[in-house]
Amino acid sequence: MKIKKIKIDDAEIFTSLNFREKFKILSFFTTRKGGMSTDNFNGLNTAYHVGDNPSSVYKNRLKILNLFGYGSNINLVSLNQIHSNKILVIDECFLKENFTPENVNSGFTDQNSSLKYSADAVMTDIPKIPLMVMGADCNLILVADVKNRVVAAVHAGWKGVLNRIILNVLEIFTGKFNSQLKDIYVFFGPSIRKCCFKVNEDVFNLFLQEFNEIFDYKKFMNRAGNTDYFFIDLVYIILNDILKAGILKENIFDTGICTCCDNEGLFYSYRKEKNTGRQAGIIMIE
Ligand SMILES: [Zn+2]
Repeated sequence: MKIKKIKIDDAEIFTSLNFREKFKILSFFTTRKGGMSTDNFNGLNTAYHVGDNPSSVYKNRLKILNLFGYGSNINLVSLNQIHSNKILVIDECFLKENFTPENVNSGFTDQNSSLKYSADAVMTDIPKIPLMVMGADCNLILVADVKNRVVAAVHAGWKGVLNRIILNVLEIFTGKFNSQLKDIYVFFGPSIRKCCFKVNEDVFNLFLQEFNEIFDYKKFMNRAGNTDYFFIDLVYIILNDILKAGILKENIFDTGICTCCDNEGLFYSYRKEKNTGRQAGIIMIE
């Protein structure tokens, strides 16, 4: 069930095809490879809000679904990501209130309406709604209850980690969808790792206050040489949070890749490039 890098046409993505086959849930992380954006956004940029040519982004998003044969009859559902711990739940009730059957997908995803819902995680129990979160360094986390068939896509930068967005997501799984924690799988995409995520003392102190009582800060942070800067291991913190919550270790999979010190040009990195595109994590019940 390991996540591997695979090539489909000229695109390179990270996924577990075994997971898809076993549970009929499609989940993967995109890279820069295989898109038509140019300049700073060179490659498979998924974000409209970064200043890329909208028609390139549209074509990139379409291509992502075409990689798995889903063409133009469904669209990627994305959020206006605001570094919060807010979650959008797309259930039958939400759809009835907001959409007609004809515009269920298009209603989310044209260039303007992709900004309609402000949140940093999106969940659904409805098949054929592909959920997408975007990032350049931020943690993109895909979550699936394989028994009750509920999925979530989560965006967690350092503020999201600090505000425990992942625990809010798990609470909705168990509270609203009656998920059992043992049925929940979690996938971590490429993101900025401890090797590159350097913060100042103010941010360090926020993490210290929030987490030092739960586990020794030396396990997730260390001082950068003789400076007043610190390296933080965000994935370690999220992992500890979800293990403590009751997710089984054998159901957690991590690409283990740092987007910032990647030398193959596979990823967008905000730290490295500032004005750049976004890769994506996508999950859909089939
Ligand atoms: Zn790194």
